[in-house]
Amino acid sequence: MLPVVHDRSPLVRLRRRLLVEPPAVTLPTAPPREDLLGAACAECARQGTCCCEVAEGEKLATLSFRDVRRIEEASGLAEHRFVEREELDPLERLAYETFRPLYRGLFVGNVRLGLKPRRGACVFLERGRGCRLPPEAKPLACRLYPFDYNLAGELTLVDAPHCLAINEACSERELLRMFGTSRRQLRALRKQTLEEAAEHARLLRHHAG
Ligand code: SF4
Ligand code: SF4
Repeated sequence: MLPVVHDRSPLVRLRRRLLVEPPAVTLPTAPPREDLLGAACAECARQGTCCCEVAEGEKLATLSFRDVRRIEEASGLAEHRFVEREELDPLERLAYETFRPLYRGLFVGNVRLGLKPRRGACVFLERGRGCRLPPEAKPLACRLYPFDYNLAGELTLVDAPHCLAINEACSERELLRMFGTSRRQLRALRKQTLEEAAEHARLLRHHAG
């Protein structure tokens, strides 16, 4: 079992700081530990703390219309089988858009489209094996997780105290390696997310008008 490093991990300290003021990710540059690569998510799934599982009241990834179309095509499922509509009050919506600026535009009024849970996990999670969707059909929010971007366009981490990858990583480089990604790939995902959120908002305006 992977040890869970609490107070010693610079990323844990960074994540705590994000709770107060989301800053850019500035991390130490220790060399990557090959033994950890790809292991954290598998271990996390075994421990039942995987981000594809939700406790009562928790929500899964926010979806754009594009995400929904890609999933429909890849899974053959109709939208109502995997999409849930969450009604937020206006203040909750404002808070969401303030702290998750990448997802601005993805609201139908105050309604957020999100992945539907079933028995405490995303409908696409196969327990012990992971996501059943092909990588290119996963929602962009899932592909980006646990990374995010703040209003200034700086790379940040989501507040995920249960995330073993964040808890275990000793450096930004190691965390990126764990997810088989790079700053360049994350920037491309950010760009795609912004474009698809803008398209989502345009479609909403069109239907409303
Ligand atoms: S991203 Fe983090 S929370 Fe999600 S499965 Fe991997 S280690 Fe767990
Ligand atoms: S779509 Fe896949 S990666 Fe995203 S929450 Fe569901 S199971 Fe997890």
